[in-house]
Amino acid sequence: MPADTRKIFESDPYLKEFEATVLEVNALPQGQGVVLDRTCFYPEGGGQPCDYGTLDGLPVRSVTESDGRIIHSVEGASFKPGDKVRGVLDWDRRFDHMQQHSGQHLLSQAFVRVAKVDTVSFHLGSDESTIDVGIADLAEKTAADVEDEANRIVFENRPLRISVRSAGDLDSIPLRKKPDLTGDVRLIEIADYDWSLCCGTHVRATGEIGLIKILQWEKYKSGTRVHFACGSRALRIFQAKSGLVKSLSRLLTAGESEIETIVLKWRDEKKTSEKRVAALLDEVLTAEAGRLTASAVETGSCKLVSALFKDRDVQEVQNLGRKIVSSPGMVVILGAVGDRATLFFGRSSDVKTDMRELQKAAAEVLTGKGGGSPNWAQCSSERTDLAEEAMAKAIDLLKL
Ligand SMILES: [Zn+2]
Repeated sequence: MPADTRKIFESDPYLKEFEATVLEVNALPQGQGVVLDRTCFYPEGGGQPCDYGTLDGLPVRSVTESDGRIIHSVEGASFKPGDKVRGVLDWDRRFDHMQQHSGQHLLSQAFVRVAKVDTVSFHLGSDESTIDVGIADLAEKTAADVEDEANRIVFENRPLRISVRSAGDLDSIPLRKKPDLTGDVRLIEIADYDWSLCCGTHVRATGEIGLIKILQWEKYKSGTRVHFACGSRALRIFQAKSGLVKSLSRLLTAGESEIETIVLKWRDEKKTSEKRVAALLDEVLTAEAGRLTASAVETGSCKLVSALFKDRDVQEVQNLGRKIVSSPGMVVILGAVGDRATLFFGRSSDVKTDMRELQKAAAEVLTGKGGGSPNWAQCSSERTDLAEEAMAKAIDLLKL
């Protein structure tokens, strides 16, 4: 059994480059799983993603831990046990994880102190981080107070201290979460503020976390999932939002503080004009239905209105047909041709002909699908070129 990998990141999370000896290699489809005697690469675990970087210039694609040994998946590697290798971390990624993870400890403690709620889980993603807190309804004011409290501790630049303790020796320490562990444990302390057992990598002082921003939250199980960003991520989000507000301000030729008022006014105006347009359209359709009814053709026991419209709203054509059959003795066969061909078949309540029969005859020509009731049926197809022929077939059937 090879020896465990020494975890340099536990004692020195700021070391970015290191030399190590290969203990063991396993073939992978695209390279090797490499076990070293020592490493700066943090393996995925404890809510924190793994580090990336290179071993002798070859990319490290993932890092996992199994039985105390850390396995680096290295693309294109052909190392042998005993080889000396040089590891280099992707420091931007690692430092981002340190900012988010230390920020999470601080934010979780701020939730305890301000809202008296515990954090039940933590997730650090490549784009966003979340904590799940045991509060059913998080009020805006509470979230703002928690955020202020967390940032106050950031601005005080309190040191973070890492120490290894015996699990049986923690009674005097006000841990945020009581452990279910024995043996040696790793204690992360934000000076005089938070005490947590954690295997992750952390910054030296709260000032390095940078701004802590709660972004949004939603109900999750019986509690709340809080999305947050720290440090560089918070800065990038601020830059993006600030750019968006500037752009909106330019588009509206208004000051940033006026944007909300303008949008609310537009929303109200849009609602009013939509109602007005709907009323006018209804008037137009009523007049058009009247004209078409007046020019209807006597066909057997009823009067027929048939028309094929190009590039007209399908719903509008349907509404027109419904208006026509609200008068007695009418049958309508209307078509709307755009990207698809849609045909409508309708009758007045005093007409006996089953519209489904007309629809079936037309659908056969169109090779389309349809359905409906004896009073109103429709079919549609991509074969717009066959719409006229399909309508003619239905009209012929009506004349029989
Ligand atoms: Zn942690």
